[in-house]
Amino acid sequence: MEAVWNHVLANCAIILFTILAWTNVPQGRARKPFVERIKLGFFFGFGTLLVMARPIEFEQGIYIDLRTITLSIAGLVGGWPGALVAAVMAGAFRLWLGGVGASAGVAIIILAASIGVAGAWWLAGRLATYRELLTFSALICLGNLVVLLIMPQNHLTEALHQAAGIWIGTVFVTTFLSSMAVFAELRRRDFAKTLKMYEAVIRSLPESMNVKDPDGRFVMVNPATAKLMRVASEQDLIGKTDHDFYPPEIADTFRADELDVLAGNDAKTVEQIIVWPDSGEITLSTLKAALRDDEGMLIGLITHNRDLTEKKELASALAESEKRANAALSNMADGLIMFDAEMKVIFCNEQYRAMFPLTADMRVPGIPARQILEAAMERGEITGIPPVEAKSFIDNAMSRLRQPGTVQFPLADGRWVESRTTPSENGGCLVVCSDITRAKRDEQELRDLNEKLAEMAMTDSLTELLNRRAFDTALATEMTRCIGTDAGLSILLIDVDRFKAYNDTYGHTSGDDCLRQVAMAVRSVARRPGDRAARYGGEEMALILPNTREEAAIAMAHDLRMRIRALEIPHTGSEKGVVTVSIGVATIGKLARQVPSTQFINRADEALYRAKASGRDAVRAWEEEAVVEQSSAGGSKR
Ligand code: GH3
Ligand code: MG
Ligand code: MG
Repeated sequence: MEAVWNHVLANCAIILFTILAWTNVPQGRARKPFVERIKLGFFFGFGTLLVMARPIEFEQGIYIDLRTITLSIAGLVGGWPGALVAAVMAGAFRLWLGGVGASAGVAIIILAASIGVAGAWWLAGRLATYRELLTFSALICLGNLVVLLIMPQNHLTEALHQAAGIWIGTVFVTTFLSSMAVFAELRRRDFAKTLKMYEAVIRSLPESMNVKDPDGRFVMVNPATAKLMRVASEQDLIGKTDHDFYPPEIADTFRADELDVLAGNDAKTVEQIIVWPDSGEITLSTLKAALRDDEGMLIGLITHNRDLTEKKELASALAESEKRANAALSNMADGLIMFDAEMKVIFCNEQYRAMFPLTADMRVPGIPARQILEAAMERGEITGIPPVEAKSFIDNAMSRLRQPGTVQFPLADGRWVESRTTPSENGGCLVVCSDITRAKRDEQELRDLNEKLAEMAMTDSLTELLNRRAFDTALATEMTRCIGTDAGLSILLIDVDRFKAYNDTYGHTSGDDCLRQVAMAVRSVARRPGDRAARYGGEEMALILPNTREEAAIAMAHDLRMRIRALEIPHTGSEKGVVTVSIGVATIGKLARQVPSTQFINRADEALYRAKASGRDAVRAWEEEAVVEQSSAGGSKR
């Protein structure tokens, strides 16, 4: 029996060596896990061969070995590729050995490898727990037991059956310990990989990261730390403290920060300023955290430094530019408002708010443009929009915010605003509002002035009647209008009697006054809208009377003559004793087209001539057959 145990121990030693050899073989690249599995298959396949070559002789001729352990581990760790390689090696060897137990031997090889593969499938790449390893070992034992039972029973196997308990126990313990050893190695490899990853991460960090021992000596540093501390390599820092690099007063404050963190439990972020003589000030945001082992013993201090210098410079440059932009915006004369893509206010200057005093409280960041417009309508800042059109007015205004353009609109208080909209890249827009009240007023004044000028161009300055040019235009218009109608168009030509003498007697200024009074009287008879009074020239005036037949015109002329007489303006130079006028009347009817305007006026002039000739202060209408007696004009010069 002792010999049997020696064999068992020898088998165990072989398994142990196999695991040890596999453990120490250099790792392949993780990128090729399949190759790694095949490699593992070879190792454990080879171990199986050794185990099989050194079988345990239970009874004479009855051999048994621990092949199930190496084969199943090949499957468990190497998956089907590992299992296949190991099983093929072991199977080929068993067949080569031959003998009655060859088929049973191959069967157990396949069974053990398959249990391993099943285990690998169960684990799906993760590491096994102890409980899983125990189950796995039990399954292997079960496999062995099944083979023992199905082996052909004879006197030789009887001995084996008697020792089954011891045998199965041995298999169980060995499988468990072996698989545990293998997984311990896998765990170690995982750990090493993770460590490598951490190291790579820390090394590639652009920011300084280091670990110090509780006394402040560098234990682990990354290249960024070496750069920050201005040493050639990380090695130059190991074992040194901040006092070896910084002036004592700076190093002391750093150490004080560290001691502070070491005394407490919490990590701490402090701002540190390093002043290098050649390159000025560096501002660091430094995180310090105490490093403790599993038992909570203080083993070091982790430091992470972030260089804030550039960030600070950027922040101050940004603040400066913001200040400048704000100054520009608040000093500009125009109001400015910016909307985001949802048409909510992002920014608006004070000038803009001041431009809309009734809704200034609404014109602040975050408020939607629609809400502002609604408030402006409600509070009466925008007027002239009937309530039924309010919605479409706001819809229109909203759509105008999405396209470039300029709009001018009046406010309720009489001011005018011009808003220029420019859509921005982010989908919002920028609106600049200018108070154009003054420009609008100037524009209106200019328009009024133009109207006045036009009026002046048509008005006689002394009498304020139409001037000769306006008379000609009006007469031409009325003559055209009268063509084909039956209504008749009349003109009165009025001449002040003995006016030269009036001037001579009373002076030119009084003559002007007299003309003004006569003009007033002329205007007073031109009552209908179409009637037009004009100064024809010198002391002659004219009246255009549309829709007036001859009789009516003569009546009006008499009326006018009487009115002027009734003014009783003294005129000693006249035989009448007061200022009087003579009036010539001419009328055209349907035949207006055939009579040129000059001829029409001539007719009135002829009639006037006859009125003068009749002794003045008289009215005459034009008559076709009338003979103008030159002699009776008696010294009248017109
Ligand atoms: P008659 O009764 O025949 O019309 O005599 P008259 O003196 O009115 O005739 P005449 O045409 O010779 O005189 C017209 C005068 O009117 C001559 C001119 O000095 C005067 N006159 C013309 N225009 C003005 C004016 O604007 N102001 C003044 N004060 N006099 C004017
Ligand atoms: Mg006259
Ligand atoms: Mg005259």
